[in-house]
Amino acid sequence: MKPTFHANPVNGPFEDPCVYVRLLRERRSLLFDLGYIDRLDAGNIVKITDVFVTHTHMDHFMGFDTLLRSLLKRDTPLRVFGPENIIECIEGKLKGYTWNLIKDYPLKIEAFGIGDNFLSHACFYAQNSFIRKDMPYYPFDGIIVEDPLFVVKGLVLSHQIPVVVYSMEEEFHININKAILAEMGLPVGPWLSDFKKTLRQQNQKEKTFEVNNRIFTLRELMRIATITRGQKIAYVMDVAPTDENIERLIQFVKGSDTLFCEAYFLESDRNRAKERHHLTAALAGRIAKEAGVGNLIIMHLSPKYRHCVEELYNEAMREFKG
Ligand SMILES: [Zn+2]
Ligand SMILES: [Zn+2]
Repeated sequence: MKPTFHANPVNGPFEDPCVYVRLLRERRSLLFDLGYIDRLDAGNIVKITDVFVTHTHMDHFMGFDTLLRSLLKRDTPLRVFGPENIIECIEGKLKGYTWNLIKDYPLKIEAFGIGDNFLSHACFYAQNSFIRKDMPYYPFDGIIVEDPLFVVKGLVLSHQIPVVVYSMEEEFHININKAILAEMGLPVGPWLSDFKKTLRQQNQKEKTFEVNNRIFTLRELMRIATITRGQKIAYVMDVAPTDENIERLIQFVKGSDTLFCEAYFLESDRNRAKERHHLTAALAGRIAKEAGVGNLIIMHLSPKYRHCVEELYNEAMREFKG
C-alpha cells in the first residue's frame, strides 16, 4: 500500500520535539510543534501550510521566527493551531519586529486557539503590517482540520497549563490495482487523482471520466480500486502523568499506526515527572499498548539520561511489547 503521507521527527531525541509530515503527491507539508526547526532545509520549510503547536513553552514554539522569515514572500496562507493562548503568543512574536516595509508582501497568517468547545480565530496579514484582526469563533467538537485527504483532531489535556495532543488520519485509503488497469487498457495518469478525489467526496456517483477517448462511469471504474483502512498517526508531548490524562490519551490515540510520544523521565523518577508535568517512558509504553498502537516512537527525552538512553527505550518497549 502506497501511503498518503510520511511523518518523521526533525531533531534528535534529546532536542526539541517536532514532526514533519510530507503529504505525498501534494506540494504541501504539515508540522507538529515549532521548536528548533533549522534542520529542515528551505525547500521543505516553504511547503508547510499548517502547524499544530502543543503549547508555547520555548522548546515547542521558538521556531516561529524561522518559519515566518522563510514564508514572508509566499502566497499560500499559513495556519497555526495551538492552545487558547496561541493567538496572544503569535501577536507577541510579530510585535517584536518593525514592519514598515512589509505591505507588498503576500503572507497571511491565520491563528486558531483551541478551547474546550470553540476555536478562537485571528488573522495577521503582511499587507496590514501583521496587526491582529479578531474573527468570529468556530464551534469545536474535536475536529480541527477536515481536508479531502485527511482529518486532524485535537484534545486539550493538562501540563499544568493546557496542552493539545493531536492525531491525523485518512478516512480510508484507496489503492489502484495496476494489473486490472492494464487489463482494461487504461493508462496511469493525472486522471487517477481525479478519480480518487471523486471517490473520497462520496456525493458524485454520477460523475464520468474520459480516458483514452472513452467515457467511463464511476461504477465501471470501481474494479481498479481497493479500499482499505486509512493511516493514523498521533503526536503527544508534555502531558502531566495523571490518571485522567492517561485514560483520555488511550482513547484518543486508539488504533494509531504510529504514536510519537514524549518519554521525558524514567519511571524511577516518577516524582520528578509529576513535579514537571511530564510522562515517563513506562507510561508512553503503557498508553501505546492499551491503545493498540502499531509503532511507538519515543522522543523529547530529558538530557540527564544521555549516558543511559537505552534505559528509556527498554522501559518503554517493555511496557509496550512486554
Ligand atoms: Zn517540552
Ligand atoms: Zn512543556
